[in-house]
Amino acid sequence: MKTNARVAIIGGGAIGVSLAYHLAKYGWDDVVLIEKHELTSGSTWMAAGNCSYYHSSYYCTQVNMKSIEIFKQLEEETGQSPGWHTTGSIRTADNPDRLDELGYYYSMNRCLGLDVNFVSPEEIGKLHPLIDTTGLVAGLYWPDDGDVDPASMTQALAKGARTYGAELNLHTRVTGITQKPSGDWLVQTDKGDVTCEFVVNAAGLWAPQVSKMVGLEIPSIAIAHTHILYETINAVVERDTMLPLVRDPDRSIYLRQEMDSLILGMYEAHGQQWKKHGVPWDYAQEELNPDIDNIADCIEAGIERFPVLGETGFKHVTAGPITYTPNGDPLVGPAYPLRNFFQACGYSFGITQAGGIGHYLAGWIMNGEPEIDLWHVDSRRFGSYANWAYNHEKIADTYPRLYSIFFPNEFRDAARPNRTSPIYAYQKAANAVFGDYFGWECPNYFAPEGADLYEQPSWRRSNAFEQVGRECTHMMNHAGIIDLTRFAKTWISGPGARDWLNRMTCQNVPEKDGQIALCPMLDPNGNFKSDMTITRVAADNYFCVTASVGKRHDQHWMLLNLPTDGSVQFEDLTYRMGCLVLAGPKSRAVLEKAVYGDVSNAAFPFSTCRELYVGRTKCRINRMNYVGELGYEIFHPIEQQISVYEALMAAGQEFDLRMVGMHAMDSMRLEKGYLAWKSEMNVHHTPLETPIAWTVKLDKDFIGKAGVVKQKEAGVPLQLVGMVVEAKDSDPWGYNPILKDGERIGMTSSGGYGHRVGKSIAMGYVPPEHAAPGTVLEVEILGRPRRAEVVSMPLYDPANEKMKA
Ligand SMILES: Cc1cc2nc3c(=O)[nH]c(=O)nc-3n(C[C@H](O)[C@H](O)[C@H](O)COP(=O)(O)OP(=O)(O)OC[C@H]3O[C@@H](n4cnc5c(N)ncnc54)[C@H](O)[C@@H]3O)c2cc1C
Repeated sequence: MKTNARVAIIGGGAIGVSLAYHLAKYGWDDVVLIEKHELTSGSTWMAAGNCSYYHSSYYCTQVNMKSIEIFKQLEEETGQSPGWHTTGSIRTADNPDRLDELGYYYSMNRCLGLDVNFVSPEEIGKLHPLIDTTGLVAGLYWPDDGDVDPASMTQALAKGARTYGAELNLHTRVTGITQKPSGDWLVQTDKGDVTCEFVVNAAGLWAPQVSKMVGLEIPSIAIAHTHILYETINAVVERDTMLPLVRDPDRSIYLRQEMDSLILGMYEAHGQQWKKHGVPWDYAQEELNPDIDNIADCIEAGIERFPVLGETGFKHVTAGPITYTPNGDPLVGPAYPLRNFFQACGYSFGITQAGGIGHYLAGWIMNGEPEIDLWHVDSRRFGSYANWAYNHEKIADTYPRLYSIFFPNEFRDAARPNRTSPIYAYQKAANAVFGDYFGWECPNYFAPEGADLYEQPSWRRSNAFEQVGRECTHMMNHAGIIDLTRFAKTWISGPGARDWLNRMTCQNVPEKDGQIALCPMLDPNGNFKSDMTITRVAADNYFCVTASVGKRHDQHWMLLNLPTDGSVQFEDLTYRMGCLVLAGPKSRAVLEKAVYGDVSNAAFPFSTCRELYVGRTKCRINRMNYVGELGYEIFHPIEQQISVYEALMAAGQEFDLRMVGMHAMDSMRLEKGYLAWKSEMNVHHTPLETPIAWTVKLDKDFIGKAGVVKQKEAGVPLQLVGMVVEAKDSDPWGYNPILKDGERIGMTSSGGYGHRVGKSIAMGYVPPEHAAPGTVLEVEILGRPRRAEVVSMPLYDPANEKMKA
């Protein structure tokens, strides 16, 4: 084994081998893979091998697409067949909610140019003659889906990896990992050590133990997963073409052809964890004892849908361990807070994604940035709350629901609450219906007296719709409080702080004490990295606020870019400061009563910050907000939140001050055309494509400048627009195709209903020639095109008079 390498990949399953193949293929000639047993000896060897385009995330669907592209050409390239079969696949629906979900997939997949079609029960019966279509209302059909042989696919990739120069070491176990003072990693194995620049944890079932070697706790555990291969079935033997894979998600089963028979797979109601405290190092290529009683319901469901199974014996029942994370999606990308340590684990559909993630992760490691937005699988989307115990509880809920309907407004109860604001009890008493965001309980809305404290999951306007409307109207006419305690907050100080921040953002960092600026951080290509608000508190002291869910992502970026000379200090204040947003036309009157100090427009103008006492508590108050009303973000020591809240509520009594939730905030930010991180602001767009192009100051140096300059010279390919959509009872959510004369010209980035303006709104990127206000387009919602007119944004208070009042 080499003693020095550019990158050491730990794990020779489908994921690790694909990464080695891609890194070597793309030109890194010192790639070392370390596998403790034979290749594929974790989960990979026993996988069913289903590979479909289907995924709820737009970007994960792209990863799946890339996989299939790679698998299809692998034999030609390596001389070894991955066992790919194009069979097509069908996903069925037997109820209206499921049909809505399929409508979302249909529209989202069309944004990607995929061949996907709705099929009737009769058509499903023709495509798969062994199915009983009773109760089905429709299905979605992807003709290009298929399956691979997981072991052959991995071996084909391994052959390619070796041909391109990667070194694959078998029967070598990684026993420890340390970082040298130089930043290089020392990977210790039972056959010697490797010094390398990058380490990738692709250790599958053992990834949590490997993470612990570098002090990280990751939310991934093993679950026993089962599929059944039936005896030979004559009706299958007699066919000339292969049967498509059928997923019947309402019965939590799938069925696909394997040689002359069928495989039935399932997500049973009581998923069973395997080796709760860690998979033993010596486990390899061993099947688990299947628990037939536990899967009996799924077997029954299979027989109901495919009666031939009732007449056929089992040939083999495969039960093996599969890794699961709290939401079932993997953990990929840079590991917070480390440098050059990447995760590529937590996969429950690692065969489907192996090819694609190998490609995209190789690019991410080699170029520093991912080619597509991989936030959906980014390991930093989970914070410290997502520990072993959290995962343990969460997975008991996630696993059996893997095939349940994906709703955009659903927040499951499992493993909650975790992080709560000190005023949680007040929120509960006010009938808050909570969502969880990065572990924080945040009221989505406050249900009226007597109403259900539960938002019905739906792709259409839910039971929360009217109440959210009332909250928006209340904010518009009176005043409201939104709890944004979850904001990520960072204090940047030191003699180098100003210059460093000016390099980190394209915007000019405020020059005067008390001034606030919207400061996007860009990646080296000029695309959005993060959305940050910077307040200059005093010379060399800056208070930086970013989105809560991006905390690890954003702070990682900052930490990795900190100068090493000690001239800039970084302090995480997230869990030490709360934030209550007071907004609405009466908010100044409320504040006036609650604080000691002058809060008149002259003394406290828009986009400035002041330190004031709210009741007994010294607060840092930013005069700005995300809802477009006169308003204030009141940051305070978290332990004094109740005192701040009570002072505000007491002062606000005569102004009918009420609490307002996240849904209302999102509705109002859409009306103002404010960009949201990972919706409008993602790695595919620069600020020049958006209405905040004014934040780009090309007369200074900053990370991403070259990319922005290049785009400015070439002209922007896309422009962010706001549209008013003639929606019916379902508003755009994002990832809806935008059509012009029936042709797809763009995609929505987000959408919803604007209650203050009484319109359904979408934001999305389109070519500049279609961006003029008045242009008539269509936005496809749940598979149906709806008239959409480009409008000049913001729709609400275009001159910002209210905010600046
Ligand atoms: C019954 C079953 C059916 C499935 N069906 C499908 C399917 O149809 N489609 C699909 O997409 N997915 C399916 N899966 C899931 C799929 O198998 C996994 O997602 C995938 O194999 C994960 O690959 P991996 O490379 O991440 O991990 P693994 O295959 O677990 O590989 C990890 C490797 O790391 C090695 N390793 C660990 N620690 C060390 C160390 N310290 N030193 C050196 N080496 C180490 C291990 O020996 C192992 O070989 C199924 C899984 C099961 C169990």
